Amino acid sequence: MKNTQEFTDDEERFFADFIKHIGDYVRREKRKTVSISVSADGTPVIKAPMRHPALSSVAEFASGKKKWIIEKRAMMLSSSEEAVLAGGPLSPAEALELKKKARDYITCRVALYAPTVGVQYGKLGFRFMKSRWGSCSPSGDLHFNVLLMLADPDVIDSVVVHELCHIGEMNHSKRFYDRILKVMPDYFEREEKLKKTGRSLIMRMPRKNDDN
Ligand SMILES: [Zn+2]
Repeated sequence: MKNTQEFTDDEERFFADFIKHIGDYVRREKRKTVSISVSADGTPVIKAPMRHPALSSVAEFASGKKKWIIEKRAMMLSSSEEAVLAGGPLSPAEALELKKKARDYITCRVALYAPTVGVQYGKLGFRFMKSRWGSCSPSGDLHFNVLLMLADPDVIDSVVVHELCHIGEMNHSKRFYDRILKVMPDYFEREEKLKKTGRSLIMRMPRKNDDN
């Protein structure tokens, strides 16, 4: 009997390599369960609790999700091809220019919203990031993803307000979101918009990411 092959040789190779180097894909963080996702560039991301399970168990878990991972990766890679057709990664010159724009524009927006939120912030940083739009350090330093500049202004503001609201509230509790909604009642619509378009923005990540 002939066996129909479910995956291409390339996919089999990718998966074997992934399992072999599973440790490279695991992010240990404060959480209770293991989760697997596939990032926009087709790379699997595994989030696991700090101490356990052991890598061998994580590999076993990932192996059980082989079909899902390979299909998701194929989907991400094909949409990344679409994005390349729709603009593609920024050239180094474009990246530099966008970063300058981000620094000018977002700095103003942060200064505008901080008094409304009622916080004082620390240093501002701007860099290209693959998996987040902004971040807030315990000391109130804020970082923003330069690629945000490719989003609509109302979306940019929603990330600005989100990060400002993290100052003194380093969590995603109800209290945190109440704080956001007080300043920006349509926050969730804006967040939804970013979720929908976000991946196509990440696709424009400059190929050489050494300008951070
Ligand atoms: Zn947050």
